[in-house]
Amino acid sequence: MAQMGFDQYFMKIATAVRKRANCQGRKVGAVLVVKHRIVSTGYNGVPEGMKNCEDGGCDRCAKRKPGAGYDNCICVHAEENALLTAARFGITVEGGLIYTTLQPCFWCMKALHQAGIRAVYYLEEWQPKRPFVSQYRMIEARFPGGVKPVKIRDRTNRAWINPPKREPERRRSPKKTGVTTVNMQAAAAHPRPGRVQHGGR
Ligand SMILES: [Zn+2]
Ligand SMILES: [Zn+2]
Repeated sequence: MAQMGFDQYFMKIATAVRKRANCQGRKVGAVLVVKHRIVSTGYNGVPEGMKNCEDGGCDRCAKRKPGAGYDNCICVHAEENALLTAARFGITVEGGLIYTTLQPCFWCMKALHQAGIRAVYYLEEWQPKRPFVSQYRMIEARFPGGVKPVKIRDRTNRAWINPPKREPERRRSPKKTGVTTVNMQAAAAHPRPGRVQHGGR
């Protein structure tokens, strides 16, 4: 059997790291690689020593509206945690690569660039909100090795990666409760796979 390529190898490890994620939003795992060696890992969740997000530790995640309130979220993103762990232990990351299970958000993207990361590899796609697309592309273009998807077989339940949104429930008129309600329930039970919506982690 052919040996697994580096990209697949590191991404598989990132999916294992993701299992430690403790956030009510999407679970994300990241692996920071320098010269073909993993120097740091990270998953998303509350800062050290704080009550887990899944136990209600983060207010913003508990009441989240997709894409809103990032500044008030105490959860640290996987990529950010990988960078911060390297900083904590004095490990250089310049010229390194990040393998993350979700395409980095705007915030992480600029942090990765500013830390000197050369290329970003992601498993699931994420897209910024409309007015910020061009700025996001501008930061993406700063990575000399690019921002690229990596394909691996990921058997994880997609509902776990992409939990249902917590938007305020709309009241429906009694007339529409029939078919519409059934469809809504089906949609909640089987979140649409594929393109990841912005926000919500
Ligand atoms: Zn959270
Ligand atoms: Zn992020």
